[in-house]
Amino acid sequence: MIVKSAEFVKSAAKRKQYPEYQLPEIAFAGRSNVGKSSLINCLLNRKRLVKTSRTPGRTQLINFFKINDEFSFVDLPGYGYAKTPVKVRESWGPMVQDYLFERKNLLAVVLAMDIRRVPKEDEFNLIRLVESLNLESVLILTKADKLSKNKQNNQKRIYREMLQTEKEKLLLFSAKTAMGKEIVWNALETIIGNAENGEVPK
Ligand code: GDP
Repeated sequence: MIVKSAEFVKSAAKRKQYPEYQLPEIAFAGRSNVGKSSLINCLLNRKRLVKTSRTPGRTQLINFFKINDEFSFVDLPGYGYAKTPVKVRESWGPMVQDYLFERKNLLAVVLAMDIRRVPKEDEFNLIRLVESLNLESVLILTKADKLSKNKQNNQKRIYREMLQTEKEKLLLFSAKTAMGKEIVWNALETIIGNAENGEVPK
């Protein structure tokens, strides 16, 4: 993918604040600190377009970005960060669920998971929800550079078994080395391409 332009459009908490455009949209989700902002920034060849979840403010909202004036990326607020105030933590579920249920142009959810961990209830729930909404999912194991090749493959197997998913659905990625960048883009381009051919999942 040649990224000609990538611009922040707006932050939103409620449905009526979402941008009105109908561009094919891909949302990114993941536990705080999993490397979600680094993933998006790496895909877009930007250093700091997407703010990390440790920065207060914008990251606790749903952030919309327009890419090449052709499609839209959405950075969902990270979940599970211990320092997040309780009130904000409680608002995460309804805010994100509302978005997933209501956003008509949403095609897929990219779920970032740390390769050194294992999926937990939050991940299972999110995957189930995405499936039930007939959205595509792309599962990414982040920070792959932190493990040896052997351990990467072991972890991939564990994730595959726990999530009951096909091997091709789990992509290894490192924002540090850009490993997996092309493969992730291929997956996203396929989803966007299918939608443009009228095969919209919902
Ligand atoms: P977010 O909270 O999910 O948006 O996570 P960030 O993208 O802010 O990353 C959290 C921390 O992990 C930061 O210190 C990053 O530098 C680091 N990090 C993110 N991606 C990678 C990666 O691929 N490899 C390594 N080694 N560190 C990473």
